[in-house]
Amino acid sequence: MAILDPTTLADPVALTRALVDIQSVSGNEREIADAVEAALHATGHLAVHRLGNTVAARTDLGRPTRVVLAGHLDTVPLADNFPSTVDGDLMFGCGTSDMKAGTALALHLAATLAQSRYDVTYLFYECEEVEAARNGLNVVARERPDWLVADFALLLEPTYGAVEAGCQGTMRAAIRTQGRRAHSARSWLGINAIHTAGAALRRLDEYQPRRVTIEGCEYREGLNAVLVRGGVAGNVIPDLCEIEVNYRFAPDRSEAGAEAHLRDVFTGYQLEIVDSAPGALPGLTAEPAREFLAAVGQPASAKFGWTDVARFAALGIPALNYGPGDPNLAHTREERVEIPKIESGAAVLRAWLG
Ligand SMILES: [Zn+2]
Repeated sequence: MAILDPTTLADPVALTRALVDIQSVSGNEREIADAVEAALHATGHLAVHRLGNTVAARTDLGRPTRVVLAGHLDTVPLADNFPSTVDGDLMFGCGTSDMKAGTALALHLAATLAQSRYDVTYLFYECEEVEAARNGLNVVARERPDWLVADFALLLEPTYGAVEAGCQGTMRAAIRTQGRRAHSARSWLGINAIHTAGAALRRLDEYQPRRVTIEGCEYREGLNAVLVRGGVAGNVIPDLCEIEVNYRFAPDRSEAGAEAHLRDVFTGYQLEIVDSAPGALPGLTAEPAREFLAAVGQPASAKFGWTDVARFAALGIPALNYGPGDPNLAHTREERVEIPKIESGAAVLRAWLG
């Protein structure tokens, strides 16, 4: 079994490397969860719990405020980038950016900060990079919601050292047009469903996505066709066409509000919601969030994309994204993290919590 010794735990850079070098592609987190659990037990100042390959550790200092520091343990599949390598200030390897550097910060603080300004719940969870039903945070919300009770949550996903607030919601919908099938040699007998879909595509082309500023963060919406299905054969007028659209909506809209907006845009068309996930409001007014922004020393910007902060928001817990990795490098062969970003991230968290 991999062992995270006290010297490694005391150095966030060495700890990042040690975590990267325990292979933990989604579904294979047992070894890394064992190592993390053992390291947390050994601190002596944390109550440690485990659910599957998700590990939670809590301080119990009687503070009036509790914060969560959360990071996932899994990575996407390897891409000839395991184990890690270091070249100057850069550490390369699967999971360096997304998000073992961030997870290492939480584990480093858990191991070395016995006295903190807030009570802290550290969460190290499995299966973030796969379908939502397996997501460790989702499983905890379902089976041990008491672990998530907090006033504020910080998710250490890669943001390149910026504070990214909230997240957009996402919704996919299928828009269908119906025609009448006919031989293409006698096309006047049919109605071409692909042609009918053209008007719906024009609505998308002319659509002006909304921009909205919430708590000083500008969220830009987007509504786009992502898939078109239609056609029967080379000599048949098609009687069905389907356009799948993806709507990324600002967090001041609920899922119901987003659906109503789509139905409004596509009035006159059959529309079916395929899936959706709510956004998360920035939550910058919570006291621990304000203190955190002061420690970072720069304002927050809007998060584009969907992250697990929305799971906290759904529970009424304000949450921010902040991590040393570069999100543009997540899931790439060239995945890497800048070592100084790990060091400055550790210093920020220590200044905030210490
Ligand atoms: Zn991630």
